[in-house]
Amino acid sequence: MAHPNAPRKRFGQHFLTDHAVIEDIVNAVDPRAGQIMVEIGPGWAALSQPLVERLGHLQVIEIDRDLARELRGHAQLSVIEADVLQVNFSDLAQRLQAPQLRVVGNLPYNISTPILFHLFDHVAVVQDQHFMLQKEVVERMVATPHSADYGRLSVMMQARYQMEKVLDVAPEAFHPPPKVDSAVVRMWPVTQEPDVPWPVLSELVRVAFGQRRKLLRHTLGAWLTQQGVASGFDLQRRAQEVSVAEFVALAGKIAETLIKRRSANNLH
Ligand code: SAM
Repeated sequence: MAHPNAPRKRFGQHFLTDHAVIEDIVNAVDPRAGQIMVEIGPGWAALSQPLVERLGHLQVIEIDRDLARELRGHAQLSVIEADVLQVNFSDLAQRLQAPQLRVVGNLPYNISTPILFHLFDHVAVVQDQHFMLQKEVVERMVATPHSADYGRLSVMMQARYQMEKVLDVAPEAFHPPPKVDSAVVRMWPVTQEPDVPWPVLSELVRVAFGQRRKLLRHTLGAWLTQQGVASGFDLQRRAQEVSVAEFVALAGKIAETLIKRRSANNLH
């Protein structure tokens, strides 16, 4: 594809130019003919081209008007010119008549976390996601309890997805090179998703990790009392020692208590 303009910083444009890395990513994605795949931020089509060769057709979402115009010249690409944060993936799956979508992208790092959170609402229509992100973000996403990287992002992600880091990528693989190291993560929604009260879980981990060096009894203790939850939860430890399953279970208990309190209030 012709390069219509210089990389635009405001769109987080760092284009992949290393062919070996591109091949490694495409092999990790393992696209098969006929699969319905959506690429976020195709840019100069460094990934789109080899992906579409194997798929036959690819749906792409690109915000940059000049790039979108170039991409429209490619017969096997369907181009949505839009901000991905405004794209409803559930509607898109329906429109493409796909029970589930495969999603890929070398994401713009300036909005990578909002993109990950945006996709939370659409896990039901996602088969898997392969994303290039800042390595540091990937390490926080996949971190396990007791490690320094384990925190809010780890819990919120691991409650929804199984994940694995598949590839480290050095800055020299891009033009222009980003200031940070990168990595590709594979994510697929957990199959038996428990009925998680997401806003409660989000608030719970925010409070728990707010002062991560302190024992939970100094941070979470008062908050749990406020919620009216007298749990048997062990508060004599730090947030980073609590597993995702324990956070999810506690969020469920808090939500249950809130519902009971609300219905009791309604009776009075
Ligand atoms: N996929 C290409 C590659 O690997 O060389 C480009 C990756 S570049 C890091 C990020 C791409 O996302 C750019 O093409 C950029 O224009 C696009 N982009 C940035 N913000 C976007 C947004 N909000 N919605 C959709 N695309 C966006």
